[in-house]
Order: sequence, then structure tokens, then C-alpha cells
Amino acid sequence: MSPTSPRRERHYDTRTPAGPWDAVVIGSGMGGMTTAATLARLGRRVLVLEQHYVPGGFTHTFKRKRWSWDVGVHAVGEVDARSVIGRVLRVLTRDQLQWSSLGGVYDEFHFPDLRIDFPDDKQRFEDNLVAAFPREAGGVAKYLRTVREVSAGMRRYYLSRLLPPGWAGVTDGVIAPDATRLLLTRTRDVLDGLTRDDRLKSVLTAQWGYYGVPPERSSFAIHALVARHFLHGGFYPVGGSARIAEALLATVAAGGGFTRINAEVDEILIEDHRAVGVRLKDGEVIRARRVISAAGALATVTRLLPPEVRAQPWAQSIAALQPSPCHVCLYLGFKGDITKAGASPANKWFYETWSTERPEWDIADPGARAPCLYTSFPSLKDPTHDPGPELLHTGEVVTFVPYEFFRKWADGRWKRRGDEYDAMKRDLTERLRAQFLEHMPALAPMLAFAELSTPVSTEHFTRAPAGAIYGIEPTPERYRNQYLRPRTPVRDLFLSGSDMASVGVMGAFVGGLLSAIAAEPVRALPWLRGASRV
Ligand SMILES: Cc1cc2nc3c(=O)[nH]c(=O)nc-3n(C[C@H](O)[C@H](O)[C@H](O)COP(=O)(O)OP(=O)(O)OC[C@H]3O[C@@H](n4cnc5c(N)ncnc54)[C@H](O)[C@@H]3O)c2cc1C
Repeated sequence: MSPTSPRRERHYDTRTPAGPWDAVVIGSGMGGMTTAATLARLGRRVLVLEQHYVPGGFTHTFKRKRWSWDVGVHAVGEVDARSVIGRVLRVLTRDQLQWSSLGGVYDEFHFPDLRIDFPDDKQRFEDNLVAAFPREAGGVAKYLRTVREVSAGMRRYYLSRLLPPGWAGVTDGVIAPDATRLLLTRTRDVLDGLTRDDRLKSVLTAQWGYYGVPPERSSFAIHALVARHFLHGGFYPVGGSARIAEALLATVAAGGGFTRINAEVDEILIEDHRAVGVRLKDGEVIRARRVISAAGALATVTRLLPPEVRAQPWAQSIAALQPSPCHVCLYLGFKGDITKAGASPANKWFYETWSTERPEWDIADPGARAPCLYTSFPSLKDPTHDPGPELLHTGEVVTFVPYEFFRKWADGRWKRRGDEYDAMKRDLTERLRAQFLEHMPALAPMLAFAELSTPVSTEHFTRAPAGAIYGIEPTPERYRNQYLRPRTPVRDLFLSGSDMASVGVMGAFVGGLLSAIAAEPVRALPWLRGASRV
């Protein structure tokens, strides 16, 4: 929250300047903004279409009274110059986006009888693990080696995914054999081969919430990518996560492009097997040389393709993949010095159990507790936050829930879903608040505001099918799918966003880059080589 921050120039509106457009990008999440900004840097004029009234997808922020929160940016790694993608992001945002470190420890894990910190330094990370599990030093070293090997191989894997679907199956395994093998292997199976200590396995996979699928089902390579992502710590955008869209969309505008909000795409227009534009919900047609859907692969193939293309085998095979789990988030507003009550920029994970086998909160059972609370204090992460005389601060508590419980409200209108929905929200708010305050009781007197978001709120604001937190779930089944790549079988139709690479903000960033490269390989590859060296 920065109530005193200066007004910045807006690069989006509800109206569109006149075409012609080199490309339309559907969706202004991290993936879509990255593709659009990259194409703009390559000299292309791009129109970004966003159904919400603010751009940014999961990077957008919202306000209640005098507090404001981010919805999907708690900790992001690899944003500084030590990482290739951090350097490219800097070029794409033209140095208009700064990141603040969450500190020496970015994640704290509170298990029933163990507290362990994940620090921003590889050696201290290993030392912490060995100090907690002295007999497992060998297993820890082997684990870290495996994580490094996988993530090194991923670059070649992404390269192979740039090829058209026709090459599928042959290329991935040949170009990136190790990464492909470990994408197709479950996390639990790899860990079983590294250590017999079940508690160590739980600690090593304690960050599974960052990719949404517990070790029993997740792809090990994605686990490894996330572990590696944070080896230099976690970061938060200075000024809040809305700064990401401001910076990237300014780059789009600098290239002659624009972003239109309140612009829901109803259908991608395909003529003679070639994407030629889109039709908006209100019937307006916008034509472009290329169409890039960054609305999520599932949403694209189940909602945006014309029926005859939706029925094609490639679209059906993507449609058969599962969305990642959904969540509820309790947004908290505080008045007071929350640092005195234990809050800090580090995220706190409160695990109620050592087991990851039942990852969702069984909310239908009134006595059930959420198995894990992921809590964070955004106002403490932002160095520009001005708490004012009342010491206004924010907190967020996230936990996974079953979508089935909420399905009956999915078609209702925002804020008008009825008394039963409102009562359910009050009940969940109370239960989550009570469980959270058991872990941080000194915050209770400072708590001045609480509002719960549900999976149907997520679905409403981002159109994520089933309120999915991270797009398609990162399991071996996802990586076995040969069509989940930026280039689709339809000419001039490309996919972007986190489904094209890995989960999270920087996963979507990589997905956005891959999509731009697939659309414009001749211009993009030399540009990327230059940008990654800056
Ligand atoms: C609670 C939560 C916490 C998270 N925490 C972290 C974290 O700490 N670190 C991290 O790295 N990641 C985190 N993430 C994940 C991260 O935010 C996402 O993975 C990433 O931002 C996804 O980007 P995307 O571009 O793929 O998709 P999105 O951000 O979902 O963008 C898709 C966009 O398409 C738009 N759209 C959809 N359909 C249409 C249509 N028909 N017409 C026009 N527009 C359309 C949507 O409105 C949306 O703006 C979190 C997510 C959540 C929900």
C-alpha cells in the first residue's frame, strides 16, 4: 500500500486506438504483458486485451478502505542481474521496475515441532538443512546436486518446446534428455531415492505451495525449478505488484501499442486455418496479423476457439489436462506496529501436520483445520510503503480448498451471490482468522479488517477455469502433452503465459518470452541474446 505514491501515466483505457495491429494479445497477466513488451521491443505494434477493469492478471492489486493488497505476488526469485531472466526483465521494463529483497530469510517454515528457515544463500540453506538433519548430510548434498542438474537442463528443454508440435515427442527427449526424464518423474519418487527420512522429505518439499501440487503428484523438474528459483532469496516489487504492469505496459505503449481493459475476448477468429483476429463479447471485431492467447491454455481451448477448432485433437488433448488447485485468501488490514507482534517481510508457512497427503482444507467439516497456512505481510515487503500515523499494514493468509465446495456459486454475480454465500464467507473468515491468530496471537488487537476471497472470486477476476491458482497443474501428465507449446497447429495463433513454461510470475515471464520467440524467431533470438547480456 502506498497511499502517498505519485500519480503515474496510464497506458491502458477502455477504448482502442486505430489499427492496424501486428499482434493482439489476449490477457494482460505476466505472460501476456511479457510477450507484448517483447514484440514491442522488436518493432511490432501490439494491442493487449484484458477483460478485467485493471490490467496485470495475477499481478494486479486491489484496495479496501485505506489498505491495498497484491493477489498473486508474494515472493519472486531470479529477478536480479545474477539471473539471465532477471536481466531480460530489466531490459523489458526499461529499468522502471525495482525489486526489494525479503531479507536474509525469505520463507520460514513452522512444522508441528520444528521451525526451519530458508535463507537467501546456497551455503546457509544447506547448513540449515544439515543442522536440522545431521545424519542426512549426504542426502541433502545429493538433493541439491539433482536440483542444479535439472534446472541447468531446462534451458534446452524450453528450446525444444519452441519447435512446432509436429516435432513433438522426438525433440524433447533428444535435446533435453535429463530435464525431460525428471519432468516425467514424480517428486516423491525422486526424494525416495535420495533419503529415507520422511521429515526431511517434507522439509525439502515444504515449498510445494509455490507450484500447487504435493510431492505425491508433482513433476520433480518443476519442484527443482522452484527450489532453484529461490536459491538467491525472494523479492518483492518496490511500490507493490501493480508496478509490474505499469512498467511492462509502458514498454508496449512505447512501441506504439496499447492495452484495452474491460475487453473480454469471446472468440478467436480463424479463416482458412489461420488466426486473423478476435471478436469481443460486445461483438466488436479486431483484426491482427497474429493472435497470442495469454488467457491460459485451458481457457483458450475450451472457451475461445471456434467450435470446429475446439473439437480438433490438439485442443482436446490440452482440454483434458487438469487445472491446478484453487485457494481462499484472507486479506487482513492492521493498525499498529505489526513487527512487534512477530510480522516481518519473510513469508511464514504454518504447517499443522507433517503429511502432505491431504493438502486441501476440508471446509465442509466444521471442525477441520487448514493443513497449511501461507501467510505474508505485503506492506512490510515494500520499502516505499508509508504506514501513516495509524500504522496501517496488510497481511494475507492463503490455503488450498476443494473447488467442488464453491462450484454452485460460480455463475453468480460478484458481490451478489446471495445470503448462503455470504454466510459461508463469514464462517470461513472466522475459522481462518482464528487459526491464524493461534499462530500469531499478538496480532489480534491490531486486526482492523478482514475479507476473504474464494475460488469464484479468482474465477471472476482472472477467468481462471475452476479458480486455478497456477494454470494447468504441473504434473508429469502436463509435460507429456505435446501440444502445450507456444506454437499451435493453427497458423498465426500462439499461446503464452505460465502454461508454456513453469508456474509463478517468472514462469509466466519465461512462457511470455517463449511465445514471442515462437511468433518472431528471426527478430527475437538475436534481441534475446543481447538482452540477456546487459
Ligand atoms: C494467491 C496467489 C499467490 C501467488 N503467489 C505467487 C508468488 O509468491 N510468487 C510467484 O512467482 N507466483 C505466485 N503466484 C502465481 C503467479 O501470480 C501466476 O502464476 C502468474 O502471475 C500467472 O501469469 P499468467 O500470465 O500465466 O496468467 P494470469 O495472470 O492469470 O493472466 C491471464 C489474464 O488473461 C485475462 N483473460 C482471461 N480470459 C480473457 C478473455 N476472454 N479476454 C480478455 N482477457 C482474458 C485474465 O483476466 C488475466 O488478466 C500466486 C498466485 C496466486 C493466485
